[in-house]
Amino acid sequence: MTWLTWPLVGMIIWCVCLALWIAIRWVPNRRSRRAKISLASRTPSERFSMIVSWMGLGGIPLIWIFTGWPSALDHETHPVVVLVGAAIFALSLRLFRLTHKALGVMWSHSLDLREDHKLVSTGIYEKVRHPMYTAFWMWALAQPFLLSNWLAGLSGIFGFGTLYFLRVGQEERMMEERFGQEYRDYSKRTKRIIPGIY
Ligand code: SAH
Repeated sequence: MTWLTWPLVGMIIWCVCLALWIAIRWVPNRRSRRAKISLASRTPSERFSMIVSWMGLGGIPLIWIFTGWPSALDHETHPVVVLVGAAIFALSLRLFRLTHKALGVMWSHSLDLREDHKLVSTGIYEKVRHPMYTAFWMWALAQPFLLSNWLAGLSGIFGFGTLYFLRVGQEERMMEERFGQEYRDYSKRTKRIIPGIY
């Protein structure tokens, strides 16, 4: 089985995880479309950062996987590296599922508030304010372990990092405007993405 190399195993695991991610989001995506939006804060910077994020987490890795470009940036890997990447991505998928379960129709791709929006502060949202972004960071972190190419591996960190840092403050201001003291109290009890740390 000389054709089944560890870089290829890493690539296959990354593709399977991407497919599982899409599958987890499928039903929430369809359901949330039916819940009416009362406020959409889709600024140009928000649109830009969503494109950059999806290029880094999906577009660039897929280009590399299917075309081999930029092969000059390919590098060696080791079984342990690939397995660590798989473990991080698996945990990220578990967390991603929990966040969708907790948010229900309050979830949206972008910065939207639904009619009759409720603040979710239980379940996984009791631990941190942005567990879905924690899950995305874990995906971005798993990517360089799984993809043996410097550009495809690291593009997720830069892509999602752009979205996270442009969005998180804006999202918290939006939530504070809508929920006032309830959100301020919730913020005092919780960290952003790593329990007890940040
Ligand atoms: N930042 C959160 C949610 C990402 S989805 C996380 O990382 O888990 C983005 C949408 O979720 C936002 O448009 C906002 O309307 C909604 N949202 C964010 N935090 C929420 C909360 N605690 N309760 C209800 N809705 C929330």
